[in-house]
Amino acid sequence: MRYPKVAIRFSLPTVERKGETVSRDPRYDILFEPVQIGPVTTRNRFYQVPHCTGMGSNWPNAHAELRGQRAEGGWGVVCTEEVMIHPTTDELPGASMRLWDDDDIPVFAAAADKVHEHGGLFGVELVHGGLSRANKTSRTAPLAPSHQANKYATLPQARGMDLYDIDEFRRWHREAAIRAKKAGADIVYVYCAHNVALPMHFLLQRYNRRRDAYGGKLENRARLLRELLEDTKDAVGDSCAVALRFAVDERIGEAGLEWQNEGREVVEMLAELPDLWDVNVSGWENDSKTSRFAQEGFQEDAIAFVKSMTTKPVVGVGRYTSPDSMVRVIKSGIMDLIGAARPAIADSFLPKKIEEGRAEDIRECIGCNICVSGNNTCVPMRCTQNPVVGEEWRRGWHTDTIPPRASDDRVLIVGAGPAGLEAARALGQRGYDVTLAERTKELGGRLIMEAQLPGLAAWMRVRDWRLGQIQKMPNVKVFLDSFLDDKAVTSFGAPNVVFATGSSWRRDGVGNTNRDTIPGAGASHVHGPDDVMEGRVKNGPVVIFDDDHHTMGGLLAEKLAGDGLEVILVTPSAVVSEFTLLTLEQAFIQSRLIELGVDIRTQSNLVAIGGDHVCLACTYTGRESEVAAGSVVLVTSRLPNEQVYHRFAKRPDIMEAAGIKTVALIGDCLCPQTIASAVHDGHLYARELGTENLANSDVPYRRERMVMETQGEET
Ligand code: ADP
Ligand code: SF4
Repeated sequence: MRYPKVAIRFSLPTVERKGETVSRDPRYDILFEPVQIGPVTTRNRFYQVPHCTGMGSNWPNAHAELRGQRAEGGWGVVCTEEVMIHPTTDELPGASMRLWDDDDIPVFAAAADKVHEHGGLFGVELVHGGLSRANKTSRTAPLAPSHQANKYATLPQARGMDLYDIDEFRRWHREAAIRAKKAGADIVYVYCAHNVALPMHFLLQRYNRRRDAYGGKLENRARLLRELLEDTKDAVGDSCAVALRFAVDERIGEAGLEWQNEGREVVEMLAELPDLWDVNVSGWENDSKTSRFAQEGFQEDAIAFVKSMTTKPVVGVGRYTSPDSMVRVIKSGIMDLIGAARPAIADSFLPKKIEEGRAEDIRECIGCNICVSGNNTCVPMRCTQNPVVGEEWRRGWHTDTIPPRASDDRVLIVGAGPAGLEAARALGQRGYDVTLAERTKELGGRLIMEAQLPGLAAWMRVRDWRLGQIQKMPNVKVFLDSFLDDKAVTSFGAPNVVFATGSSWRRDGVGNTNRDTIPGAGASHVHGPDDVMEGRVKNGPVVIFDDDHHTMGGLLAEKLAGDGLEVILVTPSAVVSEFTLLTLEQAFIQSRLIELGVDIRTQSNLVAIGGDHVCLACTYTGRESEVAAGSVVLVTSRLPNEQVYHRFAKRPDIMEAAGIKTVALIGDCLCPQTIASAVHDGHLYARELGTENLANSDVPYRRERMVMETQGEET
């Protein structure tokens, strides 16, 4: 029998907690001080800033449960996502919330109740999207300071508002604030950020060409913002705090708002008016920059000045996951409250873990923006690190706890990539006796190589957090250097077997555009992504053909160009790494490649590979051209590593003899997708093993239901 070879036990000490009350590290006490925000007081400095969930008003139960678990996880303040105040700011089919009339109140009341139940304050971010909305369902004209094109090229033009429109807008905002208060809000926002807010459009000279009291000098352009703050305080300020979310800088230099100039002047002008300053940078791609392009604390340079201009509390973001960093920003006077969107998504229980002295258990955000991609495709939130987010209500999952095991049956997991590791961790948490076998000498699967690509070091947190958890579980045994074939699996004799054996990049060129092998793909100078990551591609010029459209093609181009090779990046898409439009990274990626001198050929298909050149074809005309190539790298699609599974899974006689009751495929070996999908798959398997709510039942989760209006019903 070839298995097992080496049993790995880890050298790190496990933390014994049975019967022990673990108190928090006193260095973090400052994070648990209460902070007064206008008429309300938050219990600590952990502040979940407004962030999208992909749910909007279409998923009210899911939204309420998600926000409730945040408060349960210790966040002192829990806010909604963008809340549209009126049909003239209609984001549908985008996923945002709406508070257009009293019928919309229950959606917010449900979330407020859940947040209050766990001792949190509930914040509602009121928004009018102005010239960045299309109003597709309401079919009203988008509104703007002056007549102009929409912010987005494919959306309709916006109408310049007259004074009547401005008065109406103020009324809508005031009425929405009153509704938010009725729903149970403790904090009501005036929103002037991300360049998708009407008050911000008034503030910015390039959008505001008015000549009246709302245009021209800064004081005039800021007038509407001041009025909204005064209106909101007047309407709800007796019992609700009024927060201002303000982008102090657009990160486009003199062409836009800069924190050294008008950004600073606005803060000075309105310093004491809001009860809370929630400050950030604009647009969303800058505020939610990925770890590939920005490190923890990346907004500090722009927002640090705010506290010196106001006595009111200040909250900001910067993907803070380390309690030491949080203490630093508070002690150094950068902010009073630690704002978090992504760190709260990756770990809803982050504050509680610090409070309970288990900061080492924090599941740190990796800064990949898969969460954002969910919102941008109008589906409930997903996260690479946190498989539970978005499933709290739908599948009834809790972020920090999991039901105990359903039986004493052992589980064998084959493969220790993201899927296998998460399955092992979650099954271990349930109390199952788990064996995790990995072919190579290292855990992590695809992460081992991918996290070494430029800017992706933080992705290794996916492995490291799971490893840290598994190390504390005596019921999870890990074996490295242990390739399992069908015989090894059957002779091991575990009643439950899970294959998490990953996938392999195709070498034949079959992908999204070419459904047949590319002629010449078998030549020795034609490579796959693994060859680049393992340093085997040395001869330039290198033609990378990206027909995968996710991150890999662009990453390999960046790596090889950084190594000094001449790189030609060919893709049938109109842009490099098209998927990353959804993660807000695309423009950063393409500009970095241009700066590195990569020759980018978009709308080009690779149709043939010769000895020293490739043949490209225009995706529109089919017109062909030749490009010199010393090496060719095909980034097209992947095939599941399911060979071992197939060899024994179709032999019920052998399975029965071996005592195997269930066999499953998870992660990339089921279907090659994102790391987030693999982690989710691993968790789903672990969560549902032995339960009746099996993932493969016909409808495996709860759905939100529309309520039909009944006609002729007696009242
Ligand atoms: P996923 O993203 O689905 O977790 P990965 O490709 O990241 O997939 O990880 C799969 C892991 O499975 C790799 O570490 C690989 O070495 C391991 N593996 C593949 N086949 C076997 C096998 N037959 N026995 C043990 N480990 C395997
Ligand atoms: Fe962080 Fe990625 Fe999760 Fe978003 S999806 S919260 S960026 S780990």
